[in-house]
Amino acid sequence: MQPKNNNNNKNRPRQSNNQRRSNNQGQKQSPQKQPQSQMSTSRGQAVRAQKRSQMDAQRIVAQYATANATSMRGDRRANQIDDTPRLRMIGLGGMDGGGSKNMILIEYLNDAIVMDCGNDLGVDLPGINYAIADTTYLESIKHKLRGYVLTHGHLDHIGGLTHIVPKIPAPIYGSRFTIGMVEKQFENFGLPFPDGFELKTVVMNEETHERLKIGPFFVELVRITHSIPGSTCIILDTPVGRIINTGDFRLDPNPLDHERSDTERLKELGNEGVLLLMSDSTTSERPGRTPSESTIEPTFIDLLERAPGRVFIAMFSSNINRIQMIVNAATHHGRKIAMDGRSLMSTLEVAVKLGMIRIPKGTFVPIANASNLKDDELVVISTGVQGEPSSALQRMATGEHKHIKLKEQDTVILSGTPIPESGNDKLVGDMVDNLIKLGVHVFRADHIEIDGCGPLHVSGHASLDEYAEMIDMTKPKFFIPIYGSYRSKHFHIECAVQQGVPRANTLNTENGQVVAFTPDKMELAGEVPHGTVLVDQTGAVVSNIVVKDRVLLAEEGLVAVVLTIDKKTGNLLTSPDIISRGFIYMRENEEVMNGLRQELRRAVQQRFKRVDLDRFKAELKDHVTHYLFDQTQRSPIIIPVVNVIGGKGEVRTAANGGRTKTAEDIAKEQERRFQEMRERLLTQDARVD
Ligand SMILES: [Zn+2]
Repeated sequence: MQPKNNNNNKNRPRQSNNQRRSNNQGQKQSPQKQPQSQMSTSRGQAVRAQKRSQMDAQRIVAQYATANATSMRGDRRANQIDDTPRLRMIGLGGMDGGGSKNMILIEYLNDAIVMDCGNDLGVDLPGINYAIADTTYLESIKHKLRGYVLTHGHLDHIGGLTHIVPKIPAPIYGSRFTIGMVEKQFENFGLPFPDGFELKTVVMNEETHERLKIGPFFVELVRITHSIPGSTCIILDTPVGRIINTGDFRLDPNPLDHERSDTERLKELGNEGVLLLMSDSTTSERPGRTPSESTIEPTFIDLLERAPGRVFIAMFSSNINRIQMIVNAATHHGRKIAMDGRSLMSTLEVAVKLGMIRIPKGTFVPIANASNLKDDELVVISTGVQGEPSSALQRMATGEHKHIKLKEQDTVILSGTPIPESGNDKLVGDMVDNLIKLGVHVFRADHIEIDGCGPLHVSGHASLDEYAEMIDMTKPKFFIPIYGSYRSKHFHIECAVQQGVPRANTLNTENGQVVAFTPDKMELAGEVPHGTVLVDQTGAVVSNIVVKDRVLLAEEGLVAVVLTIDKKTGNLLTSPDIISRGFIYMRENEEVMNGLRQELRRAVQQRFKRVDLDRFKAELKDHVTHYLFDQTQRSPIIIPVVNVIGGKGEVRTAANGGRTKTAEDIAKEQERRFQEMRERLLTQDARVD
């Protein structure tokens, strides 16, 4: 902070050039001459340490920067809009970092379509629930948007809609099940929508190859197998040519619901000509073919046969085929089913409503009544296959579940593997430790050899041979891998080249990059603002600056110093209050705290009457930072609170920017507020935010 007028500069004789020089050299000062010289570290060291912590926090948060922040990186990042009649494809999300918050914009002259609009649940920042794509650019072309078209109902493809559609309204198109999931999503959203907002959804029939005209585009959905019902590819016929977005897929030859991928239609479309194939790349590093979902049904039948007591099965909540298998196996063995987990119930509700699952009457019992059944008559399906901290299975493992207490002879089946690189393997590992301690039989999808059972999970995504088959069927002129990390998209391009797509006709694009098309040409054409917006548990958007502070607080803690100073004399009216959270335990560090009090007293004595209040606050912050770094080698966030009390009831506080108020009642009011604030600070919960 700069002093407000030059006079203040005259009041700064202490920090002589000599001192600054010697500080830079890290030399000790003689204690008589300089009050700060008792410290063994230089102010520069303290400042550098503080900067380092801030930069660390900044680096963590910068992975999720908004478009504003990213567009400031230079001209290259600036919004470049050109008016040539070309088709433009822009990944607003899902083009990097493991394919999350998937969202692709297709633009042609005055019309635009958004494909998928997901969220990213894998954000590990304090207080953050998920991230969505920054829509700064989409807002700037709001008038062009004709609709949102969805591939399927997984959250990384629909989880951004509740935030984005009310702001940038347009009808939402998708298969019956996908739209069912979208409506549920809007129904369950915690925050109110803007006045006058009305959700408009359009169900498209993928069985009849229904084609809808949306602006200058024709849209069709084609059935594809994945791990949620109603998964489809999007076919978008544009004036420049045909675009196919595969959505997440695998080519399961034998899905439980017999809803095979519509490869006939894909081949037909391929024969008619495809300008651009955008294909899911999640697992393009996996060789061969993904086994059919139906290969795991016998395992459920076998394990239910072998289980001496109750059986608990944890799985991904949206896999209705998997639930159907468990229903079949349970019915086969005369067991009833109880369910636990909000997301699981939510998906099942949609599936039941749309007649997509067959459940014999009387199969389901409420979880609260599960204990009324005999042990060998019960199967519980629950969430928690990723070890999520508050999931149903996790609560059972830690003994915190309201209705279920696990015991010996219970069987727990994990029908899913930890998502790679998510850190969930540690969560699952700890949960399994707890389960084994309880004497429960555990069967894990990723350890079937050691646990002794058949397959318990198959991926919902294709393996290399299936990716190749997709390219072969659709015969695209241009190929852009989507929904995956940079490397998985890289290997997907290698696969396309092997299938005969010229390398020059492929692109590994990143979020925000504009790809422009004519019928014969594909090229990069600049970049639009893009980035990430963070959302908390309530559904509210959280500023990156707030999150950066949270990261700093989490790493370094916080120290508030509260000084009450007599304006006239410049003396402290009370002993300095020090409040520390997440920094050091004050009672065990009395020496440091007493030293700090000493420093504060000295600072008031030497500086308060010489500089204005803002300057004093800034210096105080600086000095406390330096002192605490010197004593502890750490740089907590410092909050200086300075209350100045005037002789005639005059109050000047840092909080009101140093304005002077004379009326006595105002002074009293201020004192009261100060007392309240002090109380609040002193009794604050350790979790500060
Ligand atoms: Zn999916």
